[in-house]
Amino acid sequence: MRQIVIAGNWKMFHSPSQTTQVLTDLIPLLHAGPGAVQAILFPPFISLPAAISALRGTNVELGAQNLHHEHQGAFTGEISAPMIADLGCQYVLIGHSERRQYFGETNASTQQKMQAAIQHALIPILCVGETLDQREANQTMTLIAEQLTQGLAGISPQARFMIAYEPVWAIGTGKVATPEQAQDVHAYIRQTLQTLGFSAEKVQILYGGSVKPDNIAALLQKSDIDGALVGGASLEAKSFAALVQIASEIPNLKGA
Ligand code: PEP
Repeated sequence: MRQIVIAGNWKMFHSPSQTTQVLTDLIPLLHAGPGAVQAILFPPFISLPAAISALRGTNVELGAQNLHHEHQGAFTGEISAPMIADLGCQYVLIGHSERRQYFGETNASTQQKMQAAIQHALIPILCVGETLDQREANQTMTLIAEQLTQGLAGISPQARFMIAYEPVWAIGTGKVATPEQAQDVHAYIRQTLQTLGFSAEKVQILYGGSVKPDNIAALLQKSDIDGALVGGASLEAKSFAALVQIASEIPNLKGA
């Protein structure tokens, strides 16, 4: 059975003091019972300690937005998986489309990062998704299959990870995929994971791309959409709390 996940990617927003403020506002708004929804936030690295303090005693979990695949070394400006784990985080985003677009990440580098995360007991969320040109050229499924096959190469079938399907054309644009478009790709992702030898029924597959309180319910009604990875609407306490609340009202365990 798969629990619904609401994950907030804060990108390069919220300094440590802003993080304390937003989370102080958020905590009293979270009414969903413990464990009803898995809520995870991904603040900037430098704001993680403030988030850890603010969220102590709550069931909101934390992750990092990226990592370097080596565990240590002369890599100025980078942060490794054991450092993230040592801080007390459990999750990490891997291969977000902004990292692929602006920082040259490839399927090969996401694979190295997936290995590093799993080796250090972090739960990675591998982000996949097509551009508008690729969708219009009917390349969506081929592209997704490549991102999964290459990004997950060599990963143990027992490893715990999640997938986020984020069509690039829907990220930060206000254009959300229809629930049917998203469900088609999610079903294909699950089928591909099965073919690759993973226990696909157990893998949580999140949708990301302009998810807001007014469109999340229809997405979560779909059988293969197990949650959302949210950028803009996760930045404010009120909208993140609303997403968690709406998700907690959907039958929250999916799959066999
Ligand atoms: C994201 O950054 O992963 C994302 C989906 O952003 P937004 O919700 O703002 O489209």
